[in-house]
Amino acid sequence: MKLTKSVLEKLGIERINFGACDGIWITQVRDNGKLRRCNGDLLPSCDPTTNEIIAYVIQAEAIEYEMVVTEAARAFLSWRMVPAPKRGEIVRQLGEELRKHKKELGALVSIEMGKILAEGEGEVQEMIDMCDKAAGMSRDLYGKTMHSERPEHFMMSQCHPYGIVSIITAFNFPIAVWAWNAALAAICGNTIIWKPSSETPLCAIAVQHICNQVMKQNGLSGIFNLLIGKGSDIGEKIINDERIPKISFTGSTKMGTHVEVSCAKRLAARRILELGGNNAVIVLDNVSDSIVFKLAQRAILFGSVGTAGQRCTTTRRLIMQKKVAPSLTEQLIKAYKQVKIGDPLVEDTLMGPLVNRQEVINMMTALEEIKRQGGEVLYGGKHIGDCFVEPALVRAPKNMPIMREETFAPILYLVEAENIEEAIEINNSVPQGLSSSLFTKDLASAMLFVSHRGSDCGIANINVGTSGAEIGGAFGGEKKTGGGREAGSDAWKEYMWEQTTTINWSNDLPLAQGIKFGND
Ligand code: NAD
Repeated sequence: MKLTKSVLEKLGIERINFGACDGIWITQVRDNGKLRRCNGDLLPSCDPTTNEIIAYVIQAEAIEYEMVVTEAARAFLSWRMVPAPKRGEIVRQLGEELRKHKKELGALVSIEMGKILAEGEGEVQEMIDMCDKAAGMSRDLYGKTMHSERPEHFMMSQCHPYGIVSIITAFNFPIAVWAWNAALAAICGNTIIWKPSSETPLCAIAVQHICNQVMKQNGLSGIFNLLIGKGSDIGEKIINDERIPKISFTGSTKMGTHVEVSCAKRLAARRILELGGNNAVIVLDNVSDSIVFKLAQRAILFGSVGTAGQRCTTTRRLIMQKKVAPSLTEQLIKAYKQVKIGDPLVEDTLMGPLVNRQEVINMMTALEEIKRQGGEVLYGGKHIGDCFVEPALVRAPKNMPIMREETFAPILYLVEAENIEEAIEINNSVPQGLSSSLFTKDLASAMLFVSHRGSDCGIANINVGTSGAEIGGAFGGEKKTGGGREAGSDAWKEYMWEQTTTINWSNDLPLAQGIKFGND
């Protein structure tokens, strides 16, 4: 509690916080001509380790929503005219400020979401890396020139910012996912409205304070904005708002489907969807008695137990070739027994709590269903109080229906396969397509896995686990994971639209495709 208090103080979190910010925290609104204090419903934020309320947020209502959208639209008009490398410089400064707050911000992620401290700090590091990367990329927002079919004509395409980009985020990466999107959206010339998960509003408030400070130092406002409120209220408003041309949504496939349908109805809304995963590691027989066998064990343990199984890239299925299966299963049971479960702020804890009681219920319900469908719990799966559970290892028949679903908890299904072909078939047999890994010593198997006969996932790794992606490569998944790409590679293009221009520098007006129209 003492640590929590000092973390909150350092990050400017009060007992009761305002939930809307357009560069300045909105504390009062003009309602029917009269000024009054914001009085939206209070949202308590709970520490899942202790079940204590950490602090409260006054949720944004319709009036605050309008203020934030209006200010973000106004700020876009000038922000888009700031040269991109200068926008990059502002984002670089944001990265610097995050560096100064890494410890306390990482701790707040642990306290509010429940992931262990090392992972909380890792999340802040990812934000810093993203700011650094975006700062460099701000000099690289390139277009193209093309050769025209018409003489003395010039063709080019260039990229322009959309306007307001709204970022709706999930609870499990309360700040890093915002940074993946916000750093790139900002260098591209957009303004940003963030709607964080209602499970982790304080993390968002802390980041907003840091943004406000950097923006103030640069005489800017309205670039990074925040709206905390219910998904069914503020989230709905955002996805249906004609003034918001780009939505980046991270969350469950169920909610992402709803977002997709709502945005499609208004057609002008472009979207990035980062939805649920159902990720598999394949281990082939040829790794037995090699160092790769040990690497596989470590990667599977981190992938399945890390963040208490609450990563979109969590390893949910382990597909083992038949010979390696008994020894790998035995080693995993041993490793699972040693996982220290408890307070995520304590140094040697490997697994903290689930984010809330509902997630515990979901896990226990899934385990009942697993048994009904012929799965055998080999280890763990017990509820050990409040939001704490044991991670579970489950031997599963390869067509068990529940394995097609993402249960957002630490349940690892163990499945056997005859060979690499069958293993890939099982890997690809689920509706989601986010992350996948193969552990092998054989080059041909590795190449098959990453070829177009191989894994159908947005991420396909060799001798590296399914979770813990680097920001340098584009992140995202196929099929019901939504198809979005964020962070590295060409992901910046998601935040700009492309315009094609043809310039005629001749004294004639030839038409494309050689069309003759009237007298030339
Ligand atoms: P969720 O779908 O319950 O919520 C996500 C966000 O949607 C929250 O901010 C929520 O408030 C908002 N929301 C709720 N109702 C809404 C509405 N009607 N309109 C608009 N927004 C609304 O997801 P969660 O439980 O917070 O997160 C876990 C899920 O997110 C898992 O499925 C996980 O795999 C996925 N996830 C995916 C990625 C990825 O990159 N693919 C990353 C992190 C999490």
